[in-house]
Amino acid sequence: MSVPGTPDRPLRVAIIGAGPSGFYAADALLKTPGLAVSVDIFDRLPTPYGLVRGGVAPDHQKIKAVTAVYEKTALDARVRFFGNAMLGRDFTVDELRARYDQIVYAFGCESDRRLGVPGEDLGGSFSATEFVGWYNGHPDYRDRSFDLSCEAAVVVGVGNVAVDVARILAQDPEILAKTDIAAHAVDALRASRVRRVYMLGRRGPAQAAFSPKELEELAALPEADVVVSPEEARVDAASQAALSDIETKKNCELLSRLAERGAGAKRRRIVLRLCVSPVELLGEGGRVRAVKLERNALEPDGRGGVKARGTGAFETIEAGLVFRSVGYRGVPVPGVPFDEKSGHVPHADGRVVGPSGTLSGEYVVGWAKRGPSGLIGTNRADSVATVQAMLADLKEGRLRSGVGDPSAESTPKLLASKGARTVSFSDWKKIDALELERGRGAGKIREKFASVREMLGALEPAPTGRA
Ligand code: NAP
Repeated sequence: MSVPGTPDRPLRVAIIGAGPSGFYAADALLKTPGLAVSVDIFDRLPTPYGLVRGGVAPDHQKIKAVTAVYEKTALDARVRFFGNAMLGRDFTVDELRARYDQIVYAFGCESDRRLGVPGEDLGGSFSATEFVGWYNGHPDYRDRSFDLSCEAAVVVGVGNVAVDVARILAQDPEILAKTDIAAHAVDALRASRVRRVYMLGRRGPAQAAFSPKELEELAALPEADVVVSPEEARVDAASQAALSDIETKKNCELLSRLAERGAGAKRRRIVLRLCVSPVELLGEGGRVRAVKLERNALEPDGRGGVKARGTGAFETIEAGLVFRSVGYRGVPVPGVPFDEKSGHVPHADGRVVGPSGTLSGEYVVGWAKRGPSGLIGTNRADSVATVQAMLADLKEGRLRSGVGDPSAESTPKLLASKGARTVSFSDWKKIDALELERGRGAGKIREKFASVREMLGALEPAPTGRA
């Protein structure tokens, strides 16, 4: 019998998730000298590119240009894309095990962390994930509605997602209107009455998780001033050592310049608050009306960093909308090990670890592997590392037995037998062309289809016969 990885018997790899980490894993496999491989990439949505399509902000088109790299991978003859095919709904892990030598989980972190404070479930309190998905036309969130008729909104967290949320709330809607933002979002943002956006960091300037580049962009918004108080922008004694990190230093310098600059006269204001934690969302008639904050002091955490400690001093900020932006979290996928505590797939060097040890032939990449951290490019080295583990296992014969039908036809047959309406890469290119055309008609880069039904409908042949 031929050995997997040879021309007679290519290595069969299934990648679950068509975001950056999945594409970087595919690319690393394709570029492995002497390896005969066939890669099937699955995504639960009909569209590829994961968070590049559904997460990266619409006014960050340069970042989205990375999809050209992924498209090149997808167009390689050794790669197939099965969109609208979901693990747990359309096929099972056991069915993959019977067809593929190696399975790579690249499904990211689809949910979000909670604050765990009273009032978090009041109307008007949302996760950043929902808001980001909504303005990006992600089918899961198209039906959300955000009441932007209030004066003030609070964003909890000071990471890059929090900056995205604050920027979209404060951005000139006419700038957004030319991007690929969802039509429903730009309509709502045009009517928005939000004038103040508070961003809340529980620690100090040296611990802010946003990148200096993102802070600079926020500070340069045409319609909004960024305001921070000199007291809160000051780096405390315990955090001085952190300034050896160049990004941290840049953040602190920029924050201190913003503090010196003081409040401007632009239409909107982004108020960056540091060393404060929300302790309760206060409501009225079932809706958020204010956020109660506790001021924090910083102290060494015993691991070289600093942690926040409540001081018992409280204040209240009136706000009709609250977005918690305190990190994403993975969701368990049927048949795949999941660590409740960390919120991602347990692994050793990218090899998935189940309750009784390493699972032969199963691997993980991206946020599902290391949690929700890093920029898009971080995923390249991370996926390459997992692929190295896959290749080492192949070389040393650590392959799972029981791959009953490794033929190329076995997967389309399986999905057809389940009645799945899958979307190929050429189908996606049709959707892509239609979205671009709709965008041209509306004077913007792209008008996305924001529901799976619309996407699949766009692929159906136009009805013939009498009108
Ligand atoms: P993040 O960078 O981990 O930031 C999470 C923020 O939430 C931190 O400020 C954290 O503060 C805070 N936080 C956590 N728990 C909290 C709590 N209970 N109360 C108050 N604050 C709390 O996560 P993210 O913003 O979701 O971003 C995820 C990843 O995507 C990051 O690597 C980010 O750089 C990347 N990303 C990049 C871009 C871009 O480059 N344009 C855009 C979006 C996202 P502590 O530090 O004190 O825990």
